[in-house]
Amino acid sequence: ADQGPFTNVPDSDWTQLTQRKLIESAVESFQPEQVIPLQIDGRFLTPENPNAAYSPANTSQALYHFHCAGKAQINQAYQCAHDNQNYWNQLGAATRREMLIRASRELAGQRSQLTAALVHDAGKTISEADSEISEAIDFAHYYAKSLDNSSFFDGTICTPRGVITVISPWNFPIAIACGGISASLMAGNTVILKPSSKTVLCAWLLAQAFWRAGIPKKVLQFMPASRIHGRQISRHPLNNGVILTGSANTAEQILITNPEQFLIAETSGKNAMVISANCDRDLAIKDLLTSAFSHAGQKCSAASLAIIDAQLYDDESFLQTLKDAARSLNIGPSYQASSKIPPLIGHANTRLHKAATQLEDGEKWLLEPHLTSGQSHYCTPGIKLGVSAQSWLRKTECFGPILGIMRANDLHHAIQLQNDSNFGLTGGLHSLCDIEKDTWQRAVEVGNAYINKATTGAIVQRQPFGGWKRSSYGPGRKAGGPNYLIPLMHWHDDGPPE
Ligand code: GLU
Repeated sequence: ADQGPFTNVPDSDWTQLTQRKLIESAVESFQPEQVIPLQIDGRFLTPENPNAAYSPANTSQALYHFHCAGKAQINQAYQCAHDNQNYWNQLGAATRREMLIRASRELAGQRSQLTAALVHDAGKTISEADSEISEAIDFAHYYAKSLDNSSFFDGTICTPRGVITVISPWNFPIAIACGGISASLMAGNTVILKPSSKTVLCAWLLAQAFWRAGIPKKVLQFMPASRIHGRQISRHPLNNGVILTGSANTAEQILITNPEQFLIAETSGKNAMVISANCDRDLAIKDLLTSAFSHAGQKCSAASLAIIDAQLYDDESFLQTLKDAARSLNIGPSYQASSKIPPLIGHANTRLHKAATQLEDGEKWLLEPHLTSGQSHYCTPGIKLGVSAQSWLRKTECFGPILGIMRANDLHHAIQLQNDSNFGLTGGLHSLCDIEKDTWQRAVEVGNAYINKATTGAIVQRQPFGGWKRSSYGPGRKAGGPNYLIPLMHWHDDGPPE
């Protein structure tokens, strides 16, 4: 049995030929299932005409088809989840823990196939996909070991909430779904997974790993559904809670539809990296590019603003290096190992389109982006100078590789500009000065504050992930942190452990 403390798994080691070959051949020979059914009440269902799904790398040919639940199947799923919740809770924490540890092993055993699925279905580059699998393995393992004292789960101190709906995103379709499922299950809840319709295949493979690990099908159901059923889901009387990763608008919509709904939501960001004049310039540029452009900027943790000290901002050689470095990033299909910037999932949304094509007064391109269409949709990296506190780009999350640059007179001004936001998810500082680091860390209003590193790629346990302001809703704001399970249960008498 796995008795030791939790440890993170490493990403694949690309210097090892065998590991490279394994991934490359999985990516090359990837053949998805043709039609993905629903799994409700222990049965696979194919209720309506299936929907086609496309790879971001080739939108001219369907990669697979999937089914969506209608009103009747949604009711059936909630009834089943409700009816099986007591059984799942009674099984006890130790059994649930064992099953989740087994699930994390299942994921580890399938690393190359799951990586290939992320590459084809979600358009992730190979190395980004590989890190996402590490995070998924970590989430299942970490939550299995959360609250290790089983007396917390015996019903006298706490009881599970009941049925939790996990609404998972397309940009981390395996890791984030895995986190929500694992935490909810460990706390004794049954789960209905409603994955993003853009990445149903990834979610399907994930659900299968849980079922193989022994989680009963009636305890974890698989229910893609279209937007028109959102209201039915969030208001369903047997739905005791929602874990959402999506936009702030979606979270707000759920709460408007049902103000009583228990909701944990990780939402939007408009994240900035402050770059002090006292920084390691090359490192700052490297981390800024990773933060702004990895996964084509389609992460809520992405830095879409850099707030640069005037000394550096006015230094042409710094800006030239930044521009050259951004231009050196390979743009190409995610299945090519050399690609650094993959195609967008779907078309450029209207905000990204505006960000990539329009300049406001005082703004100019350091690097002008290009939107291309055809079999796949690319947006090449864009860097916009002269972004002001009032600029539209300063306020709007665009979910693409467009970086706005702001000029700050000094660190205090930079912090003021950084905090002047409705969002507060991630933030960065590049500085080699301890006083600056300390000042910044005390003042910055974000959930994840990173010093001298990228703002993306939070690691389970080491960097629990979740923000302030409109970047998060409800309790349990720190995914992959020690208290995430607590709000997934009702606590009696003395309340949760300190
Ligand atoms: N946790 C991810 C990271 O740190 C971001 C998750 C998201 O984009 O929703 O990069």
